[in-house]
Amino acid sequence: MKAWEDKIRRVVPYTPGEQPKRPVIKLNTNECPYPPSPSVEQAMRALDADTLRLYPDTEALPLVKALSAAYGVEEDQIFVGVGSDDVLAMAFMTFFQGEKPILFPDITYSFYDVWAELFRIPYEKVPLDGTFHIGKEDYYRENGGVIFPNPNAPTAIAEDLDFIRDILRHNQDVIVIVDEAYIDFSEKPSAKELLDEFENLLVVQTFSKSRAMAGMRIGYAFGSRELIKAMKDIKYSFNSYTMNLPSQMAGAAAAADQDYLKHTVQKVVATRERTQKRLAELGFSFPKSEANFVFASHKTKPAREIYEALKKKDIYVRYFDKPRIYNYLRITIGTDAQMDQLFDALEKILR
Ligand code: PMP
Repeated sequence: MKAWEDKIRRVVPYTPGEQPKRPVIKLNTNECPYPPSPSVEQAMRALDADTLRLYPDTEALPLVKALSAAYGVEEDQIFVGVGSDDVLAMAFMTFFQGEKPILFPDITYSFYDVWAELFRIPYEKVPLDGTFHIGKEDYYRENGGVIFPNPNAPTAIAEDLDFIRDILRHNQDVIVIVDEAYIDFSEKPSAKELLDEFENLLVVQTFSKSRAMAGMRIGYAFGSRELIKAMKDIKYSFNSYTMNLPSQMAGAAAAADQDYLKHTVQKVVATRERTQKRLAELGFSFPKSEANFVFASHKTKPAREIYEALKKKDIYVRYFDKPRIYNYLRITIGTDAQMDQLFDALEKILR
């Protein structure tokens, strides 16, 4: 071993879903099967390359203004970043420090433990109950902070506002982060409704799912002025140019088109309902989905076998080889035509 090798910081990185290099039916990373708002393409076409000579607005004001108008949240209560992964990483760095462990579910977004390890934050995974629900009482104890997605991923289960309010009431001394990557697909309201009640609440959302812009990498957070200011101070100490100019323009155009967002969500939700019905007929069980994916287990055929057989047919779904969930598949909702191809393939595999 070379002497400098022990100087290298070693981490076990997050494993994202596969991005195959050839066209497949891609139901493995919860992307949107429909294009973004037409106004995004217009904004991209209108971009003058000469403007790229200059650094972009550090505060990403065009995007922040559009988000403020779309959601009725003050500009100084909005933080934007390069995907919600960036926003969440900044939030971990800013709010989670100290000796006490932060709490998050044992079955959840698998980036949380990666950030906790990276930033050397002590953490404790709180088991979901037998039906994969979060037990809110499990969070009524001393901790260094709380984070959970709502709807949770990969379970697709959403909790209502009272549930989140109860967790906040019992956690007034720490920061509570609600990761709402999938909230637009749920009938439950966003926790942003609670911002006036709780100054220690951070609500994180993304353009990657319902706005069909995963490739643009845009995420944002709503919170009290104090929280947002603290996050910006950290961000500007890291890289003061929050977001590139094309992303700011495209993001602003998308945020201004809330009707299109609703339209996309309706289509995905309609296909999701059809998908759940068909999967049940095929012998799968799953928690009722409030997201753009279904977390399903088959009554006889092991999930890994189904995953591998689907992959051979160029249909990619997500499989997690992890305790408690190794017999589940996370299936993203695609177009109706893509789901029909999935059902045909499943019929053959399960015969
Ligand atoms: N939170 C959750 C729960 C997610 O599933 C994802 C998608 N991988 C993200 C955050 C991050 O999404 P993005 O960085 O594309 O906004």
